Amino acid sequence: MGYQTDTVCIHGQGQREDVERTGAISFPIYQTAAYAHPGVGRSTGYDYNRVQNPTRKEAERIVTDLEHGVDTISFSTGMAAVSAFMELFAPGDHVVATDDLYGGVIRTFRNINEKNGMEFTFVDTSDLQAAERAIRPNTKLIYVETPTNPMMQITDIRAVSELAKKHGCLLAVDNTFLTPYFQNPLDLGADIVIHSATKYLEGHNDTLGGFVTTGSEELAQRMREMVKTTGACLAPFDAWLILRGIKTLSVRMEKHQQNALAIAQWLTAHPRVRKVFYSGLKDHPGYAIAQRQCRGYGGMLTFHVDSQETAYRVLERVRLIRFAESLGGTESLLTYPLTQTHMDVPDEERRAKGIDETTLRMSVGIENVQDLIADLEQALA
Ligand SMILES: *Cc1c(COP(=O)(O)O)cnc(C)c1O
Repeated sequence: MGYQTDTVCIHGQGQREDVERTGAISFPIYQTAAYAHPGVGRSTGYDYNRVQNPTRKEAERIVTDLEHGVDTISFSTGMAAVSAFMELFAPGDHVVATDDLYGGVIRTFRNINEKNGMEFTFVDTSDLQAAERAIRPNTKLIYVETPTNPMMQITDIRAVSELAKKHGCLLAVDNTFLTPYFQNPLDLGADIVIHSATKYLEGHNDTLGGFVTTGSEELAQRMREMVKTTGACLAPFDAWLILRGIKTLSVRMEKHQQNALAIAQWLTAHPRVRKVFYSGLKDHPGYAIAQRQCRGYGGMLTFHVDSQETAYRVLERVRLIRFAESLGGTESLLTYPLTQTHMDVPDEERRAKGIDETTLRMSVGIENVQDLIADLEQALA
């Protein structure tokens, strides 16, 4: 029943809202701050742009259908989505979170939510026993990224969702890395899916956005209240860029993955590379779970080179690949987690996770894979 994922990327499951009569194939950008009322006490359903916008609503519809949810609430950035979501919780609430999270999320938890009285325990959620031991009577949320950033650890979403249900807390999964093309956390028992749409969903390294999708009407209502109140709504043009980006999600994800697997294999055999972390490699500790819960492994990989000098040389010598933060776009980017994404994580924690001066993270783009390998080869030489 229903359309397949690659069709949903373009059309969603149902009809788009008939807000325009021209037959425009591309959804129009409703660049407006406010909407006129047809009469006193009457509304078109659209009153003010922080609360409603047709272009944004269309992007939310497509993401909801892709994630098999009931509703999606969009935000100006992924961090705005995370911050607003965390406002659902109160001082004294405890959160169990993956210990290898996106740096900005760790900063929000530590510098804002902790300051406001929430408590956090960071554990390796790929270790179910460790995750369960971290749960306390006041635990209200388990927050998971899988694969993690940058070490690509895989958490068994279904098993963690059973833990969450058993202990009466919510499970939120950040699905930025795999996207709904490869993974649907709600189908595996998660309550909330979070996206930085800046990455693969938009896919072209040219704007920012964030989504929260849920299978619960009640949570969706609360999140709508939250975006209306906190105000970091997604701009109409950005909503349109994301809508356009998602149309090609299926072809991009296939190519990202094909390139990433080839590069992971090539790096594994390189004498200057000590270790490669990519969940599509059979020796990856999360390979079996990834096989079960995902339809693919995505385009992100991390590797250790033989020394800091080699890491610096690679970052400075790459030509086609750019040395930059961010990920998930058509262009291949190389990141140095130590001084970029994980700069604010205390050194001993970074080292415990295996992030050191030899660690490089690559967001594999959709260029020709031989060109990418040639670039890495000359940079590693
Ligand atoms: C980038 C990213 C975020 C934050 O999103 P922004 O759009 O940059 O605010 C959150 N989680 C993950 C996994 C990310 O990669």
